[in-house]
Amino acid sequence: MAKDDQGKKNWNETTIAVRAGLESDESYNSVMPPLYMSTNYAFSSFGEVPVYDYGRVGNPTRDVVGKALADMEGGFNGVMTSSGMAALDLMFTHLDPADIIVAPHDCYGGTYRLLRSKAAKGHYKVNFIDQTDDAALKAAFEAKPKMILLETPSNPLLRIVDIEKVVAMAKKTETLVVVDNTFLSPFLQKPFDFGVDAVIHSTTKYINGHSDVIGGCLITKDEELYTDMRWWNNCIGYAPSPFDCYLTLRGVRTLNARMSRQQETAAKLVDYLCSHESVEKVFYPGLESHAGYEIAKRQQKGAGAMISFELKGGEKSVRSFVNNLDVFSLAESLGGVESLIAHPATMTHRGMGPEALVEAGISHGLLRISTGQEDAQDLIDALVCALDSTLSNAA
Ligand code: PLP
Repeated sequence: MAKDDQGKKNWNETTIAVRAGLESDESYNSVMPPLYMSTNYAFSSFGEVPVYDYGRVGNPTRDVVGKALADMEGGFNGVMTSSGMAALDLMFTHLDPADIIVAPHDCYGGTYRLLRSKAAKGHYKVNFIDQTDDAALKAAFEAKPKMILLETPSNPLLRIVDIEKVVAMAKKTETLVVVDNTFLSPFLQKPFDFGVDAVIHSTTKYINGHSDVIGGCLITKDEELYTDMRWWNNCIGYAPSPFDCYLTLRGVRTLNARMSRQQETAAKLVDYLCSHESVEKVFYPGLESHAGYEIAKRQQKGAGAMISFELKGGEKSVRSFVNNLDVFSLAESLGGVESLIAHPATMTHRGMGPEALVEAGISHGLLRISTGQEDAQDLIDALVCALDSTLSNAA
């Protein structure tokens, strides 16, 4: 038995991440698992189908990272995809045209676009609701949806949805509960502990963590759904490249170290943002004033490293702030080693259109920070300097 299989049940997710696939190479006993780039595999004799035959169906490097992520989440196994969107779309293949999927009204803009566009073509029906609103949830479940997608914390307002409560409601209607866990990773939140059916990651973000791979993963709680999703992944051809999987596995090894430090720095940035007069409001689940604070304390192991905040003075202030901000890159995405600042209304969420933006509470004064690995004081100095300049420009 390979060492990575020994005692796995008792391992913490950090140990699983570090040791996944180690010493599994039977050719040379390499400590790190090798990278298999080959697209095809020889049959040892006529009619004897090997474990791997064709790269779209399966690949050893891909399978190591899929299983590692599933073990970290506490799921059965994970299907790796070429993007987070591909993982979401793969999950939605489970829906028939008459089926309803309930989704957050403030979900990631790409998820919103996918659901709305495919629903318009009749692939399924979608109901976008505020999942923090009990009455809206109750009404949505009355229609017996086939699936509910949660994104908690949500992107970009970091609203927290009570996973346990949704699972209890979903049981009564046999609704499949799927959680997009991209914002926290299994190091900070384990949705399977609350009884969900599937967990999705844009591995592009914290899982890979180095902003050099676009990827996704769909992890299921049981074998049957995994087998079905793996079949569809081959059928559609959403598989990522082996090299991307290799890089992602390398990123996973340091997930704990990265997450811990980035989260610690984020809390320091939040303190400064909260105390500055240019800032109208800070959205961060670690703040007692945050509407989801108590739920986050219960279901998360930390508040995470994402912060959103609203500047006084709307888009004019945003322009001045961003132009005066050092260190941070003005860019989309999140979860990498580098700190980023994004303006959701004109960047990540612009595809939603003005009405949906208003409904989701995404104003033109809203900015989103992905806290990176830089020195905390350098980041604080940059933020304070840009906030001060916003104040003087407004005067
Ligand atoms: N889910 C969330 C929460 C995201 O933030 C994103 C992208 O930003 C995605 C899914 C889509 O992932 P990808 O860009 O890897 O397709």
